[in-house]
Amino acid sequence: MKAVQYRTFGGSPEVVEIEKPSPGPGQVLLKVTASGLCHSDVFVMSIPEEQYFLGNLPLTLGHEGVGTVEELGAGVTSVRVGQNVAVYGPWGCGVCHQCAQGHENYCLRATELNIRAPGLGAPGSMAEYMIVDDARHLVDIGDLDPAIAAPLTDAALTPYHAIKSSLPKLGAGTTAVVLGAGGLGHLGIQILKVLSATRVIALDVDESKLQLAKESGADVALLSTDPNVVAVVSERTGGRMAEGVFDFAGYQESLDVARQLVGVGGDFKIVGLGMGGATIPVGFFATPYEASVGTTYWGYREELFEVIELAKEGKLNVHVERFSIEDAPKAYERLHEGTLDGRAVVVF
Ligand SMILES: [Zn+2]
Ligand SMILES: [Zn+2]
Repeated sequence: MKAVQYRTFGGSPEVVEIEKPSPGPGQVLLKVTASGLCHSDVFVMSIPEEQYFLGNLPLTLGHEGVGTVEELGAGVTSVRVGQNVAVYGPWGCGVCHQCAQGHENYCLRATELNIRAPGLGAPGSMAEYMIVDDARHLVDIGDLDPAIAAPLTDAALTPYHAIKSSLPKLGAGTTAVVLGAGGLGHLGIQILKVLSATRVIALDVDESKLQLAKESGADVALLSTDPNVVAVVSERTGGRMAEGVFDFAGYQESLDVARQLVGVGGDFKIVGLGMGGATIPVGFFATPYEASVGTTYWGYREELFEVIELAKEGKLNVHVERFSIEDAPKAYERLHEGTLDGRAVVVF
């Protein structure tokens, strides 16, 4: 079967021919129908060899997978062959205190048990077939378009998770700021608009992304590099600043802008990974009183069901650029350059 692999440190992804896997006991084999590209893939391919923590190369990429159940491993009875499913990517052990709550993205034993997410250590969805370790990591998508469904598993689930816990702060008359109007951000804007009455101000370094932000429902879209951005947000909010700030980029430059936009008691969620390692000062004179600052990683298992429900009801307009598997390396280049419009998805 064809697969897109990261094979040599510092190299580019390659389309290769590898053996089709077969499911072991408890596992499920999917015939992949669509697989999204994510900025985290670029991050993974930028980690120096001596710091690489995701096992050995080659790595089959892809952690936004959707497919049709092709074959069941021994003992699997809870899904059926032919079912269309999305893959919940942040695999955990399933039995620790976090996993018991559906918080497998924060599994307490994943490192100890050597459990890795598909495309981030385990073979991912950027291949004609993929192994899913357990049927509980599958969510039925019915007749949703696979290209639309694939980004739901990360590009929608991640902002959904970040936004959901801030909803009590986002009543009428409040403001939410979204930094980065790309794959995650354009969905984050829509999720804010569907779930809350908050006013959304979208920021991006790229003028062309502001259009997508507007189409996604942003009330205001501004260049984050505009030196007046803090003053504009202050004026728009009557000096209150934002009750929720969601940084989907996570670069030092975006964090430095974002942290100035948080109001008293506001939430500042660092969602984007950037190139890793970006930080901000927290404390008296550095952050507003009672502001909360935190990172989030991916989302909870039940939240993927919720995101898929939103999409089935037509409440999320996922902006995708479709590629063939042969063109996946080109798509990764475009992702790296930042010239994609919305989310790139390889369609099989
Ligand atoms: Zn991702
Ligand atoms: Zn666990």
